[in-house]
Amino acid sequence: MNVLVINSGSSSLKYQLIDMPNESVKANGLIERIGAENAKITYKKEGFKTSNELPIKNHEEALTQMNSLLMDKQFGVISNKNVIKIVGHRVVHGGQSFSKTVEITQDVKSKIQSLCTLAPLHNPLNLKGIEVAERVFSKAQQVAVFDTAFLQSLPQKAYQFAIPKSFLEDEDIRAYGFHGTSHKYVSEKAQVFLKSKNQPNSKLISIHLGNGCSMTAIKNGKAIDHSMGFGPANGLIMGTRAGDIDQSVIFYLIDKLGYSAEQVNNILLKESGMLGLTGSNDLRDIQQQAEAGNEDCQLALEMNAYRIKKYIGAYTVALNGLDAIVFTAGIGENSALMRELVCKDMDVLGLQIDQSKNQLTSKESRDISKANSKAKILVIPSNEELEIAKQAYKISN
Ligand code: ADP
Repeated sequence: MNVLVINSGSSSLKYQLIDMPNESVKANGLIERIGAENAKITYKKEGFKTSNELPIKNHEEALTQMNSLLMDKQFGVISNKNVIKIVGHRVVHGGQSFSKTVEITQDVKSKIQSLCTLAPLHNPLNLKGIEVAERVFSKAQQVAVFDTAFLQSLPQKAYQFAIPKSFLEDEDIRAYGFHGTSHKYVSEKAQVFLKSKNQPNSKLISIHLGNGCSMTAIKNGKAIDHSMGFGPANGLIMGTRAGDIDQSVIFYLIDKLGYSAEQVNNILLKESGMLGLTGSNDLRDIQQQAEAGNEDCQLALEMNAYRIKKYIGAYTVALNGLDAIVFTAGIGENSALMRELVCKDMDVLGLQIDQSKNQLTSKESRDISKANSKAKILVIPSNEELEIAKQAYKISN
């Protein structure tokens, strides 16, 4: 069955057509600069890639163009659009309303709309993607997969902030977390390494390190704590986000240094993190410069790893044990140096990384721990699109 996965942003749209249940990707691509005269559409299928610049007015036109490529006589992969049976949409914020994947109805759309206040940069665009797909693929079942859903299992002691409780009760102010689709996908794959698929005793920490970074403590398949919070700013040091920061700094910037709230928000989300520390948010650059002796870059790498180590310590306590840590996303999958920095001097937890396994580059899931490591150290490539397709397929069958 053909499942089309759509991840709709402000001026871009990622797509992937996946044949389920055999999980094979038929085609995928990206449409960038939607709204511009020189929009760009990329289309890939096995052994073939094309990209084209053309004016694309809006998201509807973007999906129509994508559909033409999917149906192209020469290199297309489907005969007509009605063979797409399900469209799975990534929706960033499901608030407290959605703890699992749902078929999209009018009521679901209204709830996604009402959650726009919690995710003003993402939910309106995800909703737009849904409405456009409903028109372009009117025969397909539309399904929403929420980035927050996997994290709805957090207990109240983990998600509530210690501020007057009326803010939670009246305004839904609490930790929600993000990257849930990725954490779910890699933690399920990790079960295979633990050979405990059918025995529910597993204590995992998944570490998603991309441009955005987050960690989740997962007990018996359920998330019990998570490093992001009300928004995507909390927790780890990220490409351009500071992560955890003393709130007094924010008020000092506003009250004493005269920054506006908007400017401070911008600094913390777009000018901080690895970018603020080193001038680059690309870990490859930072690693190269650190190797060449740049002290800012060396320190930034140490700071980044130190923050992750602290969360590993905290989550091991929250889990009351540890079976495995899982590295994923661009940095987690590819940076042997970051994995090494995180895992070194972890004798207290008995974590032992195997240096030669850590250095190997591979696109496969792998165990990089030594045989005597008390907990496994795993690298598992994330695949959010496949997870969306799996969940969308599951609810329709
Ligand atoms: P996004 O959150 O945008 O999906 P990714 O998961 O693609 O981000 O991760 C992007 C990060 O991964 C960047 O900091 C990039 O430098 C880093 N990265 C990608 N490949 C490597 C590599 N081979 N070595 C070190 N870092 C890498």
